[in-house]
Amino acid sequence: MTIDELKEMLPTEQACRCYLEQAIWRDGRVCPHCGCLDSWELNGKTTRRGLYECSGCHGHFTVTTKTPMHATKLPLWTWLLAMYYILGSSKGVSSVILSRLIGVSQKTAWKLGHAIREMMDMSHEAFPAVGGVVEIDEKYLGGKPRKEKGVTHKRGKGTAKQPILVMVERAGIVRAQTIDNDRHESIAPVVERHVDMDSYLMTDQHQVYQRLGNQYAGHSYVNHGDLEYARGEVHNNTAESFNAILERAKQGVFHWLSKELLQRYINEVVFRWNHRQPTEKKNGKISWRPLPLLDQLWSLLSHAILRQVKRSHNGGLRICSTYV
Ligand SMILES: [Zn+2]
Repeated sequence: MTIDELKEMLPTEQACRCYLEQAIWRDGRVCPHCGCLDSWELNGKTTRRGLYECSGCHGHFTVTTKTPMHATKLPLWTWLLAMYYILGSSKGVSSVILSRLIGVSQKTAWKLGHAIREMMDMSHEAFPAVGGVVEIDEKYLGGKPRKEKGVTHKRGKGTAKQPILVMVERAGIVRAQTIDNDRHESIAPVVERHVDMDSYLMTDQHQVYQRLGNQYAGHSYVNHGDLEYARGEVHNNTAESFNAILERAKQGVFHWLSKELLQRYINEVVFRWNHRQPTEKKNGKISWRPLPLLDQLWSLLSHAILRQVKRSHNGGLRICSTYV
């Protein structure tokens, strides 16, 4: 879909608002203050369009209330355009580039980017766990080992780099989360939360997985220590592919990140991975392509409610995600 086609579909602010109402309230208009499903439109002469009153709490709201677009001063078109560019890029868009593309300051583009990434967060409990054959691997995000402030980062385990736990279905969806370290108490709760108990785990030889594997339907592992990377169907190749994308995204777009921000960028890479479809090439091989942009946009906006992004006292961003 080109920008002209998007503009044709959403020619006015009113059209953008109607589109957002359809996408965000697909299961019925919901009051973002109390969750009530009964409300009416306010039609006073001086009332702005798209304002509703809840029959439960009598609070007023619009489609953007308590979403990442809450109280926005930007045209809704600018938001949708930012979503268009972020969803349409294969590796993400830096705030500098985004600001030029949509005609806002870099600071505004930075905030927009994070608000949109917040909607990309698929780690909330409401999302289904990954299942089937699930490859689990730790990824240590960073560049080549090098001396930093007198510390030499090692490769892999034991490094000071940020560990990320990757849980990916073979030919399916992925979950990825930053963890404190590679010990059982850090890894087990994340796996238990994201991976269905009926799954068959594929991991490396790390002790933690031996213990975890007993809780699951099955478990096989390769022994990297013996330089073994695959044994028939026993491998972590899918997780490796995802890790490579994470690494490229980090090098290409985001260079230095705090742990909290890093999780948001991971969410973006995860969202992209989870919004692809397989197509069979002439030689019989499967290649994965992004879903059509409107499908991605529709999915993104289903996670808008209760994802209001506010500035935190320390200059970062925080999320308000509860009713009342
Ligand atoms: Zn209400």
